[in-house]
Amino acid sequence: MDMPSLVFKGQSIFSRKERLPFLLQKNGVKSMECKALIDKLNAEKTLKKDEWIYLFENYTEDDRAYAAGIAQKLSIDKYGKRIFIRGIVEFSNICKNDCYYCGIRRSNSCAQRYRLNEEDIMDCCAEGYETGYRTFVLQSGEDGAWGAERLAKLVCQIKEKYPDCAVTLSVGELEYDEYKLLKQAGADRYLLRHETANREHYQKLHPGEMSFDHRMNCLRQLKELGFQTGAGIMVGSPFQTSECLADDMIFLGEFKPHMIGIGPFLPHKDTPFRDEPKGSYELTLFLLSLCRIMLPNVLLPATTALGTINPRGREEGVLAGANVIMPNLSPTAVRKKYMLYDNKICTEDSTADCRYCLQARMKSIGYEVSITRGDYSE
Ligand code: SAH
Repeated sequence: MDMPSLVFKGQSIFSRKERLPFLLQKNGVKSMECKALIDKLNAEKTLKKDEWIYLFENYTEDDRAYAAGIAQKLSIDKYGKRIFIRGIVEFSNICKNDCYYCGIRRSNSCAQRYRLNEEDIMDCCAEGYETGYRTFVLQSGEDGAWGAERLAKLVCQIKEKYPDCAVTLSVGELEYDEYKLLKQAGADRYLLRHETANREHYQKLHPGEMSFDHRMNCLRQLKELGFQTGAGIMVGSPFQTSECLADDMIFLGEFKPHMIGIGPFLPHKDTPFRDEPKGSYELTLFLLSLCRIMLPNVLLPATTALGTINPRGREEGVLAGANVIMPNLSPTAVRKKYMLYDNKICTEDSTADCRYCLQARMKSIGYEVSITRGDYSE
C-alpha cells in the first residue's frame, strides 16, 4: 500500500484501519486510498462491500482517469484497438410490463406502438449485413404477439441466411423452456440487464407484480443454457445508493456475465420518473472502467444512453474500457417510437449513416471497427 507510514521504533504504531480516519483529514489521502482500491481490484478482481462504497463516495476525477487508464490497457491487451459492432433491431415497442423508468411501459398511453414482422426484420438484417454487421441484436418490449415459438422460427431463418453471424436476443423475462427453445433455434447471446442487484431498490423501480427473484433466475438460466449472457444496470436510477452500486459490482463479480450493459438513467417525460435527475456521466464512465478491471474479458458496450447524455460519450466510453458499440438497424420510420428515454440519439439516421458515423468516431480516437461476430473468449 502506497501510503505514508507512521513508524515508531521500526513498527507502524497504528494498524492500517486505525490510522485511516486520522490520515483522511489530510488533502489527497482519500485519492490515494481510492487508487489503492483500484489497484487492489486489478490484482484481486474483487473488493469488499465497504471498499466499493468507499470508492463510490470518495473517487475524484483523477481516480477516474487512473481507472480508465488501467481499463483501457486491459481492453487493448484482450481485444486490441478494435471495436465490435452489433446491429440492433428494435422490433416491437409493445410491452406488458410497467417499469417506472421506461418510456415504452404499458401505461404510457402517449407512446405510438408498433410491431415489425418477419419480413421487416429480415430486411433490416440484409441491410445490416451489407454494411458490415456480423451480430444482429433483436430487442423489444415484452410483446405477447412475438412469443418464443415465433421468435425461434425467426432466429432459425436468420441463422440459415447468415450462418456467419451471431444472433443476440433482448426480449425480457421468459420461462426456462422458452429460453431453451430459442437456444436450440440457434440464438447465441441474450441481454437481460438485472437493473439492480438490491432487492429493495428493485422494488422501487418496478411495480409489485414484477419480481426481483424471477429476473435474477432468468439470468442464471440463460447462462446455464449456454447463452453468452449480458447483465447490467442504469447508473443513477432513482433511489440508487452507493450501497446499491456495491451490490451490483459484487453481483457482477460473482455472476461473471459475458456482457455488461451500463448506461446512465435518463428520464422520459411520460413516465412516473419524469422529474427525476439523470444519472452521472462521469460515474457511468467510472463504472465501465471498474467492470473492465474486474472482468478483463467482458464484452462492454459504450451504450446509446452514454452517447445521448454526452456527444462524445461513446468515444470516452471506449477510452474508459468499453469495446462494443451497438448502432441501430431499425427502419428509420419506427426509430423515434422506441423511446426508452427522452432525446435518444440516432433516431433520424439511416443504417448506413450510423455505421459510417461510428467508424469516423472510432477512427478519431485511434480505433477501428471490426467486421466479425466478436464473441466472448476466456
Ligand atoms: N424488454 C427488454 C428490453 C428492455 S429495454 C428487457 O426487459 O430486457 C433495454 C434497457 O434499457 C433496459 O434493460 C433498461 O436498463 C434500459 N432503459 C430503460 N429505460 C431507461 C431510461 N429511462 N434511461 C436509461 N436506460 C433505460
